[in-house]
Amino acid sequence: MTGGCSCGSVRYRLASEPLFVHCCHCLNCQRQTGSAFVINALIEADRVEILSGDPQAVPLPRDAGEDQRVYRCPECQIAVFSEYSRTSVWFVRAGTLDDPASVEPDVHIFTRSKLPWVTLPDGVPALEVFYDMKELWPAASLERLEALAR
Ligand SMILES: [Zn+2]
Ligand SMILES: [Zn+2]
Repeated sequence: MTGGCSCGSVRYRLASEPLFVHCCHCLNCQRQTGSAFVINALIEADRVEILSGDPQAVPLPRDAGEDQRVYRCPECQIAVFSEYSRTSVWFVRAGTLDDPASVEPDVHIFTRSKLPWVTLPDGVPALEVFYDMKELWPAASLERLEALAR
């Protein structure tokens, strides 16, 4: 899977399938994107190959809790990845993939602030706030996460 920013300066490639895909309806994500939600493909940072450009980390204040850094194209300022406290996992903004349809959300989170006109699909877990990774992540993804901690 490949993707990039609007001006073409930043290009990236995902070296494998994502670990898990979040559709986040929280107020931070709504504000950051100016939209109803963000689609984040979680993947090991070292599996994101930067093919061109030099995404710059911009610290972002959040309403509560942990800090967040958003990696932006230095030219067009499009946000391509973000990073939370666990810096070994990057959240790739799936709307920047060349084929955004190549990933689908595995979970919908922070639905307590979901916009009322957004209808969620049946069969995909949806949580008011967050979820237990051990319950929802596939075993292979949990193993990859454990490998990062070693
Ligand atoms: Zn750009
Ligand atoms: Zn969010």
